[in-house]
Amino acid sequence: MRLGLRGASWEMKPSGKSLYHRGVCWQGWAFVFSATVGIGCSASFPRQEPLVFSHPQLPAHLPSGLVTHEVLPKETLWAIGKRYHISAEAILRANHLTDATKIPVGLILIIPRPEVPRLVPIYPSRGQWTHIVIHHSATVYGNASLLDRAHRKRGFSNGLGYHFVINNGTSGRKDGQIEIGHRWKRQQAGAHCNAGGMNTHGIGICLVGDFTNHTISQAQMESLIGLVHQLSVAYHIPPARVIRHRDVRGKITACPGDRFPWTEFKRRFLWHLSQPSSDGTF
Ligand SMILES: [Zn+2]
Repeated sequence: MRLGLRGASWEMKPSGKSLYHRGVCWQGWAFVFSATVGIGCSASFPRQEPLVFSHPQLPAHLPSGLVTHEVLPKETLWAIGKRYHISAEAILRANHLTDATKIPVGLILIIPRPEVPRLVPIYPSRGQWTHIVIHHSATVYGNASLLDRAHRKRGFSNGLGYHFVINNGTSGRKDGQIEIGHRWKRQQAGAHCNAGGMNTHGIGICLVGDFTNHTISQAQMESLIGLVHQLSVAYHIPPARVIRHRDVRGKITACPGDRFPWTEFKRRFLWHLSQPSSDGTF
């Protein structure tokens, strides 16, 4: 479609870009303005029914084969590349960028030739991960950096005791955003549950929030299911060994709180596991 107006024109054409919001992919059309002075602008708006994906952070393979990724707070180009099995340099090249340290939050990156994306990096197994233990931060606000600081104050010399933190949209992080702790990157034992050998054998996941009085957000639930799914498949951890902190024998705690929807989580997690092509990557 093209509209003309005294030496200027508006043209609608497929933009080839997609916008992602809360797990919904909008295939956009660009509304391109061209004027004789050479100034252009564009905007995208929905063209068709949204394609709904099972995870708010996961980009999708588009009909054109183009995959994009929106940069999250504190996310590095290295971490993004790791998820798609490509180098940071390849992403820089594909997006005509030069400085990996200057990637603003919210930037939509084109991911060239991606393989199946993962939520988090998977390292070769040495057989040490036998359980997944779910916690809450018991705070209304928080993120991995704040928890790291709190744990160092408590005398944890390696800082953040959890391997992963799932945010609730406070303290500068997005709702459902998964942060990867340095203990996971170094494949170190956690400091999240001193009973039952869980620090050594349990992968510690902390949901930001106090589920004594509140429940988790939908975005946190979806991230939790996706993360536990991926980890349990990658390390052959059976569902019975996906537990709450309170389930660890010898530990007296209410963590992750009475309002954590354990039954719903288990039901949805088991459903994902039962899918025929279940490989933990969606
Ligand atoms: Zn706990």
